Amino acid sequence: MNETERLERRLLKDTACAIQDFELVEEGDKILVAVSGGKDSYTLLHLLSRLRERAPIGFDLVAVNLDQGHPGFPAHVVEEHFKKVGVPYRMLRQDTLTIVKRIVPEGGTYCSACSRLRRGILYNAAVEMGCNKIALGHHRDDLIETLLLSALYAGRLATMPVKLRSDDGRNVVIRPLAYAAEEEIAAFSEAMGFPIVPCDLCGSQPNLQRKRVKALLAGLQAEHPAVKGNLLTALSKVVPSHLLDRDLQRRLGETTGRDPWFEVEAG
Ligand code: SF4
Repeated sequence: MNETERLERRLLKDTACAIQDFELVEEGDKILVAVSGGKDSYTLLHLLSRLRERAPIGFDLVAVNLDQGHPGFPAHVVEEHFKKVGVPYRMLRQDTLTIVKRIVPEGGTYCSACSRLRRGILYNAAVEMGCNKIALGHHRDDLIETLLLSALYAGRLATMPVKLRSDDGRNVVIRPLAYAAEEEIAAFSEAMGFPIVPCDLCGSQPNLQRKRVKALLAGLQAEHPAVKGNLLTALSKVVPSHLLDRDLQRRLGETTGRDPWFEVEAG
């Protein structure tokens, strides 16, 4: 077995584990696989296709690429890849860049508005195509970076959900690469020669907070190789009684939620 096959085997195992742990794929599913043209989504499409060939249940995949109107976006490169690997696909085009430029204040970063608009378009496309699920290529590093970003900059302990029904109830978003390490995805994507289309054609500004958190994690990982894996494990080993969420404490019956019996005056 060569290195590429070893990587593929590890990634297939991570993906299959996440699928089983969170029941991400079920009999009869028709899954829209969002493929941006980056390493993560190409790898996701490849792994889901391989698992589909071996799965004891039947489910379908449709690869979807969205051209968001960024100057020079080479949609044909992604389409050629779909044809080459022989997966059913749909190419969409909607100019969200113009909207993003209009709604994001001068000096702000585009990425969050851009992704929100992209998600909305994909939700509608999934309904129109009869897909009951949307698979996104976020991986372990995205999850742990989001956990730190959320705690450090928003004061909230949360990350990207591995499985989530959309607010309007029309779609279920799944993240089958939740357990897969970014460095392994990057190495596999390179070994497979996926035709990468960079996600920076909009010329957007760097997302400084995410970059800093990424660099922080890389530094800690260099000192202690288990850091990233431990953070992911921490997400699945929550000790509610040792946290300060009073609503959660109430739901667990640890506190009653009664009004305070003394008043503390503001100093
Ligand atoms: S880099 Fe550009 S295309 Fe990618 S999410 Fe950010 S704004 Fe959108």
